[in-house]
Parts: sequence; structure tokens; C-alpha cells
Amino acid sequence: MKILCVLYPDPVTGYPPAYAREDIPVISTYPDGQTLPSPRAPLGFKPGQLLGCVSGELGLRAYLESHGHQLIVTSDRDGPYSVFETNLADADVVISQPFYPAYLSADRIAKARCLKLALTAGIGSDHVDLKAAAARGITVAEQTFSNSISVAEHVVMMVLSLVRNYLPSHEYAVEGDWNIADCVSRSYDIEGMHFGTIGAGRIGLAILRRLKPFDVRLHYNQRHRLSAEVERELNLTFHATPESLVQACDIVNLQVPLYPSTEGMFDDNLLGLMKRGSYLVNCARGRLCDQDAVVRALNSGRLAGYAGDVWYPQPAPVDHPWRTMMHNGMTPHMSGSSLSAQARYAAGTLEILQCFLEGRSIRPEYVIVEHGQLAGTGARSYNLT
Ligand code: NDP
Repeated sequence: MKILCVLYPDPVTGYPPAYAREDIPVISTYPDGQTLPSPRAPLGFKPGQLLGCVSGELGLRAYLESHGHQLIVTSDRDGPYSVFETNLADADVVISQPFYPAYLSADRIAKARCLKLALTAGIGSDHVDLKAAAARGITVAEQTFSNSISVAEHVVMMVLSLVRNYLPSHEYAVEGDWNIADCVSRSYDIEGMHFGTIGAGRIGLAILRRLKPFDVRLHYNQRHRLSAEVERELNLTFHATPESLVQACDIVNLQVPLYPSTEGMFDDNLLGLMKRGSYLVNCARGRLCDQDAVVRALNSGRLAGYAGDVWYPQPAPVDHPWRTMMHNGMTPHMSGSSLSAQARYAAGTLEILQCFLEGRSIRPEYVIVEHGQLAGTGARSYNLT
């Protein structure tokens, strides 16, 4: 079989010969009891290595080639003569990552005549046209939970850094200045603030749990309520609508999947309902927000800060307004690709590939689309409309 894998480019300084730390902690289980990836083949990497870039190859080459499969790994994914486009027509499997997505649009799916499996290395398969994949009988799978805690940690960091005015203050330190008044004139404590997450699934709930000890008041909105036990444990206020949540909160986090009816959810109307001086964090997907409405909300002071690691398109063009808008704490899409997360999603990718190539079922928690419809986690997390 031909496996076509699109990964982000290597570091500009080359593939690292050594790492900052010797190893990564061993995690025994995910918070809801889901087991960690468990491929039957040996891992082709040492956990803690850089796997998500082209030279890292997700550690897949030894396994695939020893079983007679062809692996093509590239970051050249744009335009009709790119390695990605020119190999798409006879690829059986496409592996791509949300961080540097090889967008599998309906057009590309039509060209990919042999495609049977669209495998996301990570979480979030919205870069695949799920409707078109379902119509063609292509399976879509990802490694549910592999980087959820990684993202939750990133969100907590962004909440604190926005509210406490960390990034501009750090700049003063780097530049040799001592501008205390400039640093603190936008700096607050999060203690006592109202924090709300739209989407309290794997990531959203982990964020709520991590923020609880900061003595913030916690809110959430999603279509189904969490259990009464969890609501009590975290002293949560449930909101039936995003509109209700944003009016009650000082800090809002967005953690819902991107599908047609969540696209553009944060537009001028919803942003206009937020308290003046609110903070918005979005490590879910860039297109959940209207790009220009966010800039307008920052300029008007409706938003006191916006942070996130997701953009559209990705990579963001150099003149993307979110790179330079005021009071932003943006990073490139990196929260779910820490070295810790890479070890888990690379092992999960191997597990899924092995199941697929050996004709075994992929575990339902990894499945997004199967047999022509949303299935497994996909049936709970996504909507085709
Ligand atoms: P989950 O499916 O576990 O959680 C998503 C939650 O969103 C669900 O609890 C769901 O609850 C809720 N939801 C869905 N639709 C709506 C809606 N219209 N309004 C309100 N709530 C809604 O996903 P994860 O927590 O694992 O991940 C969330 C998203 O984060 C992913 O889809 C992905 O886009 C992004 N992500 C980003 C990463 C990064 O590196 N930045 C890495 C990993 C994920 P209900 O069905 O009850 O509404």
C-alpha cells in the first residue's frame, strides 16, 4: 500500500541531535480511563523525540517498509505540482496533522481515487471534508485524547498570560527596561473572575479542573449537560446558550469542534454581548471566530485580550491580522504537538495503521467516519451540517 504522510517541516536549525530533557513522564491512563495507544508492533521511536516533522516521520518507516508498504513523507503540500498533490491519486492512506494540515477538500478526495483511510495524527479532523469522505466510504480516524491535556495546559497558560499581562512584561525585561507601571496597568489576578468554556468535553473539562484551584468561578455551555456529580465537584454554572455564558464571564474559552454550524460562531453579535474587557482564548479552531470581528473587538476594548494557537488557513500568511492585532497572545498551532503529545499520537497512528493494514477494527474512540457515516467519537463530536 502507498502511505502518503504530510508533516510540518523540520526545525530551521535541522533535526535536533539532542533534547532539553532525557525523557518524558510515563502516563498510565487518560483521565476518563481510556487506555493509551497500544500498537502491537514495536515503536519506531524513543518517546520524547521530535516525531511530527518530516525527518521524524512519526517513527513509522521501519514498521511500514518491513511489511512491504511504501511511505512518502513530505511537507510540500500546496499547488498541483507539490509532492502531496502528485502522489494523491494512487495513495491508499493519507496521514496529516491539524498543525500543518493537508486539506482534504472534496476536490482532492475526488482525485484521490485509491484513498481508503484519512488518518489525522492528532485530534480534529475538520481539515478533511467529512461529508465527501463519508460519501466515498473513506474511513477517517484520529487519536482521541492523545493531546487533550497538552491543549488544556496551553489554555491555562494563555489565560494567565493574558490576564496578568505576561508577554508584554517579558518584552520589557528582554529589552533591558524596568517599566513596572507599563507592565501592571493591564495586569489583573484571575482569582474571583468568572471563567466559562464553550465545550466541556475532554479538553474543556480538563481546563475547568485545572482552573478550579485558582478560585475562579466556573461556567460552561454545551448541548448536553455534564453529570450532576461533576457540576457539584467543580461548582459549575451551566448555560444553555453561548450568549448567556459570554454575558456572565470575564474569560471565555472556546473548545468545540469545527463543523458547518459552529463555523463563525464568534461574530460581531456574540462578541458584542461580552463584557467590556473580556478575554477570549481559542485553541480549538481558527474558523470558529470571524477573523475581522476579533480584531474589531480588540480595537474597541470589548476584548482586553485574545490568545490561541489556531488560525485559518494554516500556516497563517505573514500578513494575517491576528499576528499583529493588539493585546494578542497567539502562538503557531503547537499546543497539541508537545514532545509528550507526539509520543502518544505517533503511537496511536501506528496502532490505527496496524489495525487497518491487518484488517482489524479500529477502536471506536479513534473513529470519526466509517462505513459512509460519522461513527465512534465522530458521531458524538461532529455534525455534518
Ligand atoms: P470533545 O469532543 O471531547 O469535546 C467537544 C465538546 O464540545 C463536547 O463536549 C460537545 O458537547 C461540545 N460541543 C459540540 N458542539 C457544540 C456546540 N455547537 N455548542 C456547544 N458545545 C458544543 O473534543 P475535545 O475536547 O477533545 O477537543 C475539542 C476541539 O479542540 C477539537 O475538535 C479540536 O478542534 C480542538 N483541538 C485542538 C488542538 C490544538 O492543538 N490546538 C488539539 C486537539 C483538539 P455537546 O455534544 O454536549 O455539545
